[in-house]
This record gives sequence, structure tokens and C-alpha cells, in this order.
Amino acid sequence: MDGAAAAGLVGRTCGRPGAGAPDFTAVMVGDDGAGTLVIRVETPNFEELSRGVLVNIGLDTDQNPATGRQDRNRKGIEYLIVAEGRDGEASLARWDGAAWDWLDSPVQFRWSFGFTVALDLADIGSPRGFNFWVGAWANYDWDSDNNDRLPGDQAGRGAATWTYQVGTAAAPPLSFPLDTGDFIIEYVQSDNPHTRGLIDWVKESGRLDRLVRVLNSTYVLPEDIHVYVQEIGEPNAFYSPGYRAIVMAPELLDMILGLFNREYRWDNPDDASNHALQAVEWIFLHEAGHALIDVLDIPITGLEEDAADQFATMTMLRLDRPWPAYSGAILFRALAQNRGGPGATDYWDEHALHEQRDTNILCWLYGYDPFEFVFIPTRFPDATDRIERCGAEYQQVKSSWQTLLAPHAKWDHPRRLVPWREGLTRWGSQAT
Ligand SMILES: [Zn+2]
Repeated sequence: MDGAAAAGLVGRTCGRPGAGAPDFTAVMVGDDGAGTLVIRVETPNFEELSRGVLVNIGLDTDQNPATGRQDRNRKGIEYLIVAEGRDGEASLARWDGAAWDWLDSPVQFRWSFGFTVALDLADIGSPRGFNFWVGAWANYDWDSDNNDRLPGDQAGRGAATWTYQVGTAAAPPLSFPLDTGDFIIEYVQSDNPHTRGLIDWVKESGRLDRLVRVLNSTYVLPEDIHVYVQEIGEPNAFYSPGYRAIVMAPELLDMILGLFNREYRWDNPDDASNHALQAVEWIFLHEAGHALIDVLDIPITGLEEDAADQFATMTMLRLDRPWPAYSGAILFRALAQNRGGPGATDYWDEHALHEQRDTNILCWLYGYDPFEFVFIPTRFPDATDRIERCGAEYQQVKSSWQTLLAPHAKWDHPRRLVPWREGLTRWGSQAT
């Protein structure tokens, strides 16, 4: 795309990167009309700035290749922006005719699936327009003279550099969400041998670890959310906004297993264990839903508890794993059977009634796959009024959560909800 002279989204497919180097897929440039210039380069294969990555942006601010620094491939550079993975900061230098003169002018530099650079146009001589090129290389070694053949990618390279006329495009957003957090799971051991057995069971199943990996590879999080599988003296699971932590008590698994064995007849005792473990997976995602609503400020209407049930179920369905959600449903059915009729305090609860949480999940499962779950309307004749609309209900819940989470999704995830990058593409075309 060399030679493209456009504002906003300058180019989409850039140079050919070397293996292990940042691969540019889009370059955007614009200014805010108040003197701040912003350049954004997308490197979807490089989530964060790592040690040894060198970024250079060369600016030909008099748009005359005959003046300024003369390199083999880059002619007439007056200003150079340099950032490297050692400290994650950027510096600005001016070519004084013989050498680079390093300036004190501040340059903002952020990396999240690419890099964003912002500086005052006044610091580069307030040009009306400029030509520029961008390069990024991996494995850069400041103490070595052998950096010539490093793997890297360049955009606007050679004589046909890219051009921007100041005032012709809105600045790309500075604050691309930074992925500075993860779900972090910890199994806290207990002195009680029975509890220890339950914790080991969850741990060795790998079920929660797998869901943690799914969440971490799907969402850009501003901070860490800790997950403690820890004895607390009661069968419970909860999210604590104060501690940014989810607690999954092993006592809960014990309670569910006991309940399943009491309330249902099983052909194979392993089935009860499997459903109990799957219900714990669904409950974990329910708590993760609360956590995401909190840290990502996800807007919710209706009860947050219903929203968390939706998140847990939609996440399982996105993974093509409807059965843990089904295990969640039969847990609520067992809780309802075990309780008897609901009392006044149940009507006041933040949670819908066990009966409703059960049937909500069943409805979404039937809406998701009416062939796999064809037994639902047969087994629950009371469902007939709602069941025909469950397909539409499932689609609505699914697309609502996709819309809410899209700005926080990592767009390179193979099972991504809505490509995170779509927003950037839309922005790019608006700006041009
Ligand atoms: Zn909840």
C-alpha cells in the first residue's frame, strides 16, 4: 500500500513481517484540531509491547525528500519518534543536519494490539502536512551492531511514503482498551481431608482452569480478577467487588452432589458427579458475569442476577457446551424440590425463584438447539406457552450480550463474539 495518500485509515495491509515480529495490518493518522497528532498502527499478532521491540516513526515535515536525514530506504526525515520495549516510552528527535538532536517534548506511547503515538504538532514545527513511514522490529539489541537484518515490518517505506494533511481526519482514539488484567485462579488447600479431596477433584478436572483460559483469551480486562477455590464453611459461591475476587467454595460442590443424589435417580453414579461438576462450571461463569459487569461497567437492565445467568449460559453455548448449563438448570430444579413452595423472602430475593432460573436456562437451551433439547417440551408440558418463542428469546439474549461485550473482546480470538477490530474499521472509514 505504499504511496497511498489518504487521511484517517491510511493503509490496511502493510509490509511483510519477519517471523516473530509485529505485523502491521492498518495504519491510522489524524489530529484533534487542537494541535495533537495521533498515529495508530495495528499489530494484531502483538498484544503488548515486549522487550526488544523497536518502533520508529519518521516524519518528513517539510515534505521534501531532499532535505533531512537520508537513509537507504527513507529520504528526508526531519523528525524521528523512537519507542522500544525496554521502558515502553517514546522519544522525539530532530535531525540537525548532521545528527539526531533528542528533544524533551513529551510523546505519549501506548501498546495494545498495536501502538498509538500522540504528540503536539508544535513540537514538530507545526507542519501543514507531512510524509511519514513506520517501522517495528523484534529482537532489537541496543548493545549490538548486528541489528540490520532483524525481523520487522514497515509501512510507507521507500520514496513513496505516506502523506497526511493536518486537519483532514479526526484523531484515532488515544485510549484503546489496555489488556492489563486476567482471571487468576488459585486453589487454597484445606486441613480438612474431605474438603481437600473436593478441591483436588475440581483442580484435577481442569474445568475451571479451562474456563479461565477462555475468559482471558476473549476479554480485554483493566485489572486482575482473582478466583479462589477455598473452604469458607458454607456451600456458596460469590463475587466480591471490593476484593475483585470470586470465591468458589468446595462445600458447594459437596452440597450439589448430595442434592443430586437425593433428588434424582441416576443409572450411573458417575453421572451425578459429572452433573455436579458441570453445575460448578456454570456457577463459576455466573460469578464471572458479575465480575465482568463490575470491572467493565457493563450496563444492565433488569436484575443483575438474571444477567449473570444469561452470561453463564451464553458463554457455555458459545463454546458449544450446552450440558453444563443444563446441569445448572437441574440444580435449580433440585433446589426448588428440596425447598418446597417459595416463601415471602424468596419473592424479595435479588435472584429469580429457583423454578424460574431453571426454566429460563431450559428455554435458552431449547432456543439454541431444538433438536438436541427436543425432550424439553415433551417433559415439561407447562412450557408450551413460552417454548415456541425460545428461539427468538435465545437470539435476543445472545445478541444483547454480544453488543455489550464487543468493545471488550479480543478481536483475534477464534471464537470471538464480535470482532473488536470492527469498531476500529468503522472509525477508520468515518474519518476519511
Ligand atoms: Zn449471582
